[in-house]
Amino acid sequence: MECGKESFDSRRPPFRCDCQGLLDVVHHNLSDVDADRLKHVFDSRLGERGTPFSGGVWRYKELIHPELPIDQIVTKYEGNTGLYESESLTSYAGVRKLWIKAQSENPSGSFKDNGMTVAVSHGRWLGYDNFACTSTGNTSSSMAMYAALSGSKSTVFLPSHGVSRNKALQTEAYGARLIRTEGGYDDGIRFLERHADEFGLYVCNSINPLRVEGQKSIAFELAHQLGWTLPDWLVVPGGALSNASAIGKGLLELHRTGFIDSVPRIAIVQAEGASPFHRMVAAKERSLIPEPRPATVASALNIGHPPNWPKAMRYVIEQSDGITVSVTDNEILEAKNRIDRSGIGCEPASAASLAGLRRLVSAGDVGPDETAACILTGNLLKDTDAIARSLKHEKRHGPDDVVPPIPLTPDVVRAML
Ligand SMILES: *Cc1c(COP(=O)(O)O)cnc(C)c1O
Ligand SMILES: [Zn+2]
Repeated sequence: MECGKESFDSRRPPFRCDCQGLLDVVHHNLSDVDADRLKHVFDSRLGERGTPFSGGVWRYKELIHPELPIDQIVTKYEGNTGLYESESLTSYAGVRKLWIKAQSENPSGSFKDNGMTVAVSHGRWLGYDNFACTSTGNTSSSMAMYAALSGSKSTVFLPSHGVSRNKALQTEAYGARLIRTEGGYDDGIRFLERHADEFGLYVCNSINPLRVEGQKSIAFELAHQLGWTLPDWLVVPGGALSNASAIGKGLLELHRTGFIDSVPRIAIVQAEGASPFHRMVAAKERSLIPEPRPATVASALNIGHPPNWPKAMRYVIEQSDGITVSVTDNEILEAKNRIDRSGIGCEPASAASLAGLRRLVSAGDVGPDETAACILTGNLLKDTDAIARSLKHEKRHGPDDVVPPIPLTPDVVRAML
């Protein structure tokens, strides 16, 4: 992305360019794409059970990884997630129409599956059998799941703090080797960038551009579900900024190939305690100043030096007129509470999207007559500590018990209804 060199060997592990810049996938066949024909193909795959094409990522293979042999695909039929409309959330956000795209319904419980199926399949194709990442917990759960599914090993560098217990346990349950490290997520990334080759590890962090290719399918599936028209705004939480970059890149490619007539705007929402990208964009700066001690209740957003910021800058801010906003932990937890009580449910990081949209409407950046889709990134059960913490103000909840027991008599029960 930095030096402009092309034709990087697609069979080498995709970490960084020799100039240290990020790698990006360029599809040279986009001008040959016949959108009308492919729309029919994508529709016809909706009913193809039991093949990789019935999943919500590989259905769009032609626009994601045309080269990969089908027998190399490692899939759990990820994607295919629900799209919801909720009156209470629409009025909470303050827009005319709001869709909630629940990537939280993915097989490992987060949108990381959309990208990870592509990264692990690609790595297997190159002959790797040990997959590695550093992670705040969702990347590692997803990677460990696909590695196990393909009969490979996985190795995870977990930061010393800020990882939800549920995510660490989920990762371990899938059989990953967990290495708990001193320092944070950003230190883990730097270590892997330097040493992965030496250890024969295939890195699945989001600097791997194949992850971004898979995550584009979130935009594809949303557009497909809405009949190839999209709302005015797509709202995404931003941590390492792979998801925002992927959605931006995906929308631009849909537009270039004639699938959609116009490119919706993207709003990236960061948590106030971990918002270096928002600060950079708001100050109209061109280089990112990392946040040395990121801190937010939204563990998946607790990243001080988002590696994909140049991609988010290019695809979201510059090429599709996107914007950024930050929200407080209280706003995140309040929005999470609303989403949970709407019956959809999510982990705190996901709720940043709704909190951000509400703030953008009240600031006048998004109009009350506009339409939007919030991307919910992770499942409610991913972070039960956060639920316990946000319910603690209700006196009857202790930190450990869910609800204390009562004598089961009609009088006691009646008094509680
Ligand atoms: C990874 C993750 C994010 C942040 O996505 P990035 O691509 O790192 O910006 C947000 N929410 C959840 C639940 C995540 O797992
Ligand atoms: Zn380069």
